[in-house]
Amino acid sequence: MQRFDEAANILGLDESTYNALKSPEKAVIVSLPVTMDDGKIKVFQGYRVVHSSKLGPSKGGIRYSMGVNLDEVKALAAWMTWKCAVVGIPYGGGKGGIQCDPRTMSDGELERLTRAFTGAMRDVFGPERDIPAPDMGTNPQTMAWIMDEYSKLVGQASPAVVTGKPLVLGGSLGRVEATGRGVMVSTRSAMAKLKMTPTQCTCAVQGFGNVGSISAKLIEQQGVTIVAISDVSGAYYNPDGLNIEEAIEYVTKNKSLEGYKGGNMITNEELLELDVDILVPAALEDQITEENAGRIKAKLIVEGANGPTASTADKILDEKGILVVPDILANAGGVSVSYFEWVQNRLGYFWTEERVNRRADRVMKLAFDNVYKTSKKHKCSMRTAAYVVAIEKVADTLKLRGIF
Ligand code: NAD
Repeated sequence: MQRFDEAANILGLDESTYNALKSPEKAVIVSLPVTMDDGKIKVFQGYRVVHSSKLGPSKGGIRYSMGVNLDEVKALAAWMTWKCAVVGIPYGGGKGGIQCDPRTMSDGELERLTRAFTGAMRDVFGPERDIPAPDMGTNPQTMAWIMDEYSKLVGQASPAVVTGKPLVLGGSLGRVEATGRGVMVSTRSAMAKLKMTPTQCTCAVQGFGNVGSISAKLIEQQGVTIVAISDVSGAYYNPDGLNIEEAIEYVTKNKSLEGYKGGNMITNEELLELDVDILVPAALEDQITEENAGRIKAKLIVEGANGPTASTADKILDEKGILVVPDILANAGGVSVSYFEWVQNRLGYFWTEERVNRRADRVMKLAFDNVYKTSKKHKCSMRTAAYVVAIEKVADTLKLRGIF
């Protein structure tokens, strides 16, 4: 909200529009009785929040975790509104979740829970209304169950009701690499603005899962030397550069970087403070805080993760002259290709991976340039500028469509 308020101030947003943008349009809570494998019935709480559907159907993931609650889902739904608006795709924002621990449940239990949730959300979900996607604790199989259940309920094949589906069910080529690719395009665009020559730059990447490993691979392909990577097992540093393809092979084989010999071990905290040109946090939230922000040496931070920088650190990074490409812009490559998946499902015609990548790169490049220009115009950070672009767009739509 602090970041939203800052952008609303720059825009001179009137109080009524401000209030309308702050509140979610819809919040649905359902109780889901599910027969467990032992024959007992357990009741789960499920949530879906549509923050905004002004720019188009709402879009956002579904999370299965014990921590799911209405406040969290509301905040994440608003985040999706700004993320979709900043990259200019015709979607509003939504988010959903079920309070459960998927690691302790069998596939059968998860399937019954997912189908019960889909039934309960029949009037919320829809290719023209609200389109879920995977998030923490859910995956392409979860999306396949939602797609199948929804299709049965409406009596017709309805692949466009969810994205992040397995390829054979209408998923898109390029989706797996999409977020990391967007991080690379953001990094490349920012390097050009800062007149940094890729072959003379070094980079550290925190997190080596989907986003971190692919960002590292593609940034390396731009000529940048990746000197440090990390995961939950620790960080690995080699000032002469790591071989990312090799590291990816290692993780594919061993499930984590533990025991990786390509670099010397340092801590995840040390990785953030390395003397590098570029830092890509791609693991968890709240990694850069008011405590360590002053010690960060990178000139450019590209946020692959959601919320890696605490709002209390924004000002410190700003004062140090570090360019931060904010999460709602930098990691929006994933939702952009989700949009392409939906487009392809509705066309009934599938694109090559090359076409998906080319179009996604264009979306990311245009969005970056727009946010950069806005930050120069208002003399503000890229983060505030991203919120300015997004809020202005939704506010304009709201005014044109009217409020009664
Ligand atoms: P993932 O589960 O594939 O990978 C997470 C990585 O972080 C793993 O390598 C894990 O070992 C590492 N990690 C965990 N704890 C750590 C710690 N304390 N220090 C360092 N590393 C640690 O997840 P992901 O899909 O790559 O997502 C990473 C971040 O990017 C999350 O914030 C997610 O919300 C965000 N994001 C993901 C996507 C997407 O398409 N996958 C899209 C937008 C945003």
